Amino acid sequence: MESNSDVDLDPNKDDLPLRANTNHILVRHYVLDLTVHFERKVIGGSIVLFLEPAIGSCKQGEPGSVSKTEVQNGSQVSSKHDLSSPITPEPNELIPSEEPSCLSGGNDVSDVFWGDESEEFNLVLDCCDLMVSKVEEVDVTTVSNLKELLVDHRYANADHLSSSLVQRLVSMPSVCWRSQHELYLQCSRSPTVLNAQPLRFHMDQWSLQVRKEGVCSSHDFPSAVRIWYETKPTGGSVRWTKDQDSRCCVYTMGSPINNRALFPCQEPPVAMSTWQACVRAPCDYIVLMSGENQAIPKPAETGFLQWDYYVTMPMPASTFTIAVGKWLEAGVNVPNFEVEKTDETCVKVLSADQQYVCSHMDYPCRFMLSAARTQTVIPHRVFAPPCHLQKAKDMILPLLPLCMTAAHSLLGVHPFSRLDVLIVPSGFSSLGMASPHIMFLSQSVLTGERNLCGARLCHEIAHSWFGLAIGARDWTEEWISEGFATYLEDALWNHVQKLGYREAEEQRRLKALLRWRRLSDELQNSEVELQVLRPNKENTGEVSESGASLVKHALNPEKPFMQVHYLKGYFLLKFLADQVGEEKFLHFFKVFVGKFHGQLILSQDFLQMLLDTFPAMSSRGIRLETIFSDWLDTPETPEWLRDSCSEWSQTPVVQEVREEVAKWIHFSGSGGKGSKRKRSGPKVNFKELSPEQLVLLLEFLLEEPKLSLSTLRLLQTTYNLQAQDAEVKHRWCELAVKHKHTAAYRDVELFLIHDQAMGVYLYGELMVQEDARQQALARRCLSFIKDDMDQSARSVVEEMIL
Ligand SMILES: [Zn+2]
Repeated sequence: MESNSDVDLDPNKDDLPLRANTNHILVRHYVLDLTVHFERKVIGGSIVLFLEPAIGSCKQGEPGSVSKTEVQNGSQVSSKHDLSSPITPEPNELIPSEEPSCLSGGNDVSDVFWGDESEEFNLVLDCCDLMVSKVEEVDVTTVSNLKELLVDHRYANADHLSSSLVQRLVSMPSVCWRSQHELYLQCSRSPTVLNAQPLRFHMDQWSLQVRKEGVCSSHDFPSAVRIWYETKPTGGSVRWTKDQDSRCCVYTMGSPINNRALFPCQEPPVAMSTWQACVRAPCDYIVLMSGENQAIPKPAETGFLQWDYYVTMPMPASTFTIAVGKWLEAGVNVPNFEVEKTDETCVKVLSADQQYVCSHMDYPCRFMLSAARTQTVIPHRVFAPPCHLQKAKDMILPLLPLCMTAAHSLLGVHPFSRLDVLIVPSGFSSLGMASPHIMFLSQSVLTGERNLCGARLCHEIAHSWFGLAIGARDWTEEWISEGFATYLEDALWNHVQKLGYREAEEQRRLKALLRWRRLSDELQNSEVELQVLRPNKENTGEVSESGASLVKHALNPEKPFMQVHYLKGYFLLKFLADQVGEEKFLHFFKVFVGKFHGQLILSQDFLQMLLDTFPAMSSRGIRLETIFSDWLDTPETPEWLRDSCSEWSQTPVVQEVREEVAKWIHFSGSGGKGSKRKRSGPKVNFKELSPEQLVLLLEFLLEEPKLSLSTLRLLQTTYNLQAQDAEVKHRWCELAVKHKHTAAYRDVELFLIHDQAMGVYLYGELMVQEDARQQALARRCLSFIKDDMDQSARSVVEEMIL
C-alpha cells in the first residue's frame, strides 16, 4: 500500500527521507501506553501526541501536504527558512481533489481517496513497518485539573478551548514538571471528542499522514491526537531475538531508521520533545528504557507488570531506546544517590562560581542543580544474560565509576541522572550504543584486559555530552557525535589510568597511528562519496519548506560498518587540539558544553566558537572555510594528517613494537620453520606488550607475505592470543586466514560467532583466497548465526559469500 509519491523512492536507495512537517507543527510530548507480546513478537497499544503549531507556520491556506518534489529533492530544494523565521505561503494554485464528503469509520484511506493535492492540513509523521488501526482526537477538555490552567480568559475561546489548554500545558514552566506530567497522563487517558469521527489517515512506506476533515491549517488541527497501532515482528528498528542464554528479548536498534518501526514520530532532530511511557511486559521480563527514573514495576493485568518511565529534557525522538528481556542485574556496588529535581532546588540561587548559562528551552536542567554539579558518579546498574553476568560484574562494575569520574572531571555535570548498561544479544552489530539513561554494550568488550572495555565505556559515556545533550542538527554531520566521542575516549581513558603527561602523549600517538591505519585502509576500500563528512556542504542543516529532508547515504548498507565519521572526525579534533594544546582544548570543551547543552548544533557552531576563543589560529591560516575545505567537504586526506603519521611512528611505544616485529620476522626467516630441531623452544626473548601494541604488532606482521607455521604457533602461545581482547583476536584471525593456519580455524569460528560486531569483513577475507576449507568455514558460521544476526550485517555478509 504505497502512495504515488513513493513510486520513485527506491527502498534500497542511499538516502533516508525524513518526512515530518516540523516547520508546520511540532510534537512537544509523547505518552506511550504499550504492551509487549512475546508470543506474537508485537508491541501494541497507543501513543498520544501533544502538538503545537510551529512558530512561523502560516495560519491559513497552508499547503500542508508532502509534495512529490519536496520529498525527492529534499535539501536541494530547501528554502533558507529555519524554525524561527516566518514562512511566506506560496499562492495556493492547487485544485482540490474530489473527496467523499463522509468517510465511514475514518480508517485508513486508500490512495484514490487520499488526494495528495488536498487543501486540508496534513500531519506527517515518520514511521515504517507499523499497523495503525485508528487515529482519533483526544478531548482534553474533560480533564478538570487542566482547566485550572486557564485563569486568563483570553484563552477561553470555546472554539479553541482544547488547543488553548494544550498550549498552556506544553508551555508550563519547568519547575512544575511533575504536575505537567500528571496532566499529560490524564489527558492521554481522556475519551475521544464526543460524536467526532476518527481522524482520517493514510500510510505509505515512510510516513503516516493524518487529516481532519475541513481543517486547512496547523492552528486548527487537533492538538492532542491518539494513534492506536501495533509494531510488526520484522519491523526494521525493533529487534526480536534471543539472548545468549536462548531466552526471548526485544530491543530497539537505532540507526539508521531510529524508532520509526516502534512508534510514529517526528524524526527530524529539530523536533525535540519529552516523553513518558507505560510499558507492560510479562512478569518474568524486565523493561529497561530511556527514562530519568528507575522504574519500579507495578502489577498490571494477569501475568504482566507495568513499568513507567519519563524524561523531562526535550530530546529528538530518535534517542528513545527500550530493551525488554530476562536479563539479570550484576550486583550493586554504589549506593543510590539520585538527585531530586524538587521545585525548591530548581530556583535556588546559584553560587558565584557557576559556569553555566542555559541557552536551551526551559526544562529542569541538571546543569543548574548544585547537587547535580558535584555528583561525580551517577547511579548506575549493569544488566546481562546469566552466562555473561559474572564477567559483566567483574569487568564493567569497577570501571563505570572510574570512567564517570573522569568524564565529570573533564566535561562537567553529567547531563543525565542515571545510567543502565546492558550486555545486548550477540547479534548486535557494534561494540556499543549510547542513549539517554541506557547504554548497550557488546559482549565483545568483556574479554581480555580492561583496556578495550574501559575505552569503549569512555566512548559511550562521552556521548552523553556529544551526541545526546548536544546533538547534530543535521544527521549527515555524524562526526559531531562520533568524532567527539572517539577523541574524548582517549582523554577520558588516559585520565582513568592516571597516566603522566609523557605516557599519555605516547598512548595518544599509538592510538592515532592505529586509527590512521584503519582510516587509510577504509579510504582505499570504500566509495569516495561515503568518505565526505559533510556531503551537503554549505547546505548542511537546510530543510524543505515543510521541514522534510533527506539524510545522505543513511540507507547505504555499507554505511553502518564505516568508520570515517569516527576517525576523520577524531583527527580533525586532534589537529585542532595540536594548535591550542590538549589542556586548553579540553577546557574549551567544558565551556562549549556549558553554552550548547540541550541544543542541536552544526559544525560551524563548534568551530566558530573555537576560532573566536583562540584567535591565534586564524593568524596561522586556520579559518572556518579552510577547515571545511580541508577536512569536512572533501574525500581527500588533509596534509597535516599525512605528515603527522610519520611523527606518530617515531614514538617509543611504536618503536618497541617495531623491534618486536623485527624479532618475529627474523625468527620466521631463520629456521623457525617448525623443524624438530627447534622443538626445544625459541631462544628469542619477546617483550611484553600492551593490548594496543599487540594490535599494531599483528598488523605489521599481516603485511608480511610469509610467516612460518612455527612463528604462528609461537605467536599464539607467547601472547596467549585466544585470551586477549576482541581487537587483538580480530588481527590474530586475519593472520590465521591469510596464512591458512588451520590450527587456528577454531579461533576464527569462535570469533565469527561470538564477536559479530567485529567479524563482518573477516567473511570477505575467508572468501577471497578461494580456499575450499575457508569458504566452508565462512558458510558454516553464517548458517549457524544468521537468524540472530543484525540485518544489515547479514546482508553485507551474504553479499560476500553468495
Ligand atoms: Zn541547562
